[in-house]
Amino acid sequence: MAEVRQQKLFTIGPVQMYPRTLAVSGTQLPYFRTSEFSELMQRADGMLKRLLGTADTSKSIWLTASGTAAMEAAVMNLFSSRDKLLIICGGVFGERFVDICRRHDIPYDVLRLKENEAFSEAHLQPYADGGFTGLLVNLHETSTGQLYDIQAISRFCKTQGMVLVVDAISTFLCDEYEMDRYGIDVSLISSQKGLCLSPGLSMVVINERTVQQRFQQSAKSLYFDFQDYIRNMERGQTPFTPAVGTMLEACDMLDYLCEKGLQVHLAEVRERCLYFRQMIQSLPADIPAFPLSNALTPVIFYEDIAGYVFQTLKNEMGMVVNPTGGLLANRGIRVAHIGNISLADHATLVEGIKQCLNMRNQRA
Ligand SMILES: *Cc1c(COP(=O)(O)O)cnc(C)c1O
Repeated sequence: MAEVRQQKLFTIGPVQMYPRTLAVSGTQLPYFRTSEFSELMQRADGMLKRLLGTADTSKSIWLTASGTAAMEAAVMNLFSSRDKLLIICGGVFGERFVDICRRHDIPYDVLRLKENEAFSEAHLQPYADGGFTGLLVNLHETSTGQLYDIQAISRFCKTQGMVLVVDAISTFLCDEYEMDRYGIDVSLISSQKGLCLSPGLSMVVINERTVQQRFQQSAKSLYFDFQDYIRNMERGQTPFTPAVGTMLEACDMLDYLCEKGLQVHLAEVRERCLYFRQMIQSLPADIPAFPLSNALTPVIFYEDIAGYVFQTLKNEMGMVVNPTGGLLANRGIRVAHIGNISLADHATLVEGIKQCLNMRNQRA
């Protein structure tokens, strides 16, 4: 237990949590079928919509599940075998949307990016007038760090009359994200990423037009039937027991963010990210050339030393970064800039990485 905990996390989720969240999570949970808890839910829901930049008339579904469940539930509730979806796939999370559509027999086509390829509006043109009814995208493809061009995607969906579903799990509260202004119909988020909370809660937020157009019949699932969630939320409740503790953390964090101001928060994340990218210029490593989210920085070493760096940072220095999968697994680590980590913590991390490189040279 102790070894798992005494570390500083530079990971994308769970992240290094804020003391105020830890204070909330260490308390006795209340019973939740009460008017007091309903009030709290409704207040949290209003703040969430405000931070997402969507109208109060949008509906949110608070699921007790990880982010993947939000992805699957959204697809199950919004689409059927009569639809045809376009999936932008540039990594692990894009592949997950592909798997979900395959399992649920929903027709789809995949716009697959090559390793290191930057997404551009031109990628969409071959799919114009192809009879697509919806588009699925992980706006920040966390496995590579690429942040796609939401304006281009949104323009395409609008001219094609497609429902735009955005997995915003690792971009919300990290980068600018304005659901209504960007023409996003459905947003997916999750508690352990930008919100910096315990895992356990995922939210699907759907604009009014999409609710009206898409919810003629119930999903073929009991737990994930959105209509049930929407009905319950009118009285500030969920159909089943929510992750009550994570819900309390969420309410506290949303209060804090609304008070602090979204722009101030985003500027903080951005400052850490730019500081880190500046600091690593002297390392024998590159960062990808495609557009990146401020949430994290992929560091691609010139040599196959990612495993050594990851282990040494964790075991000898108490700092944890994200490993990288795929072709770059041996060369890449990913460093997140969200959570209770300061500029000074980032400087310590860069020093740590330099030390790892020196140690390895000496051992070699
Ligand atoms: C973390 C993440 C998810 C959800 O993963 P879970 O492990 O199911 O919480 C989904 N999409 C993206 C882009 C993510 O970064």
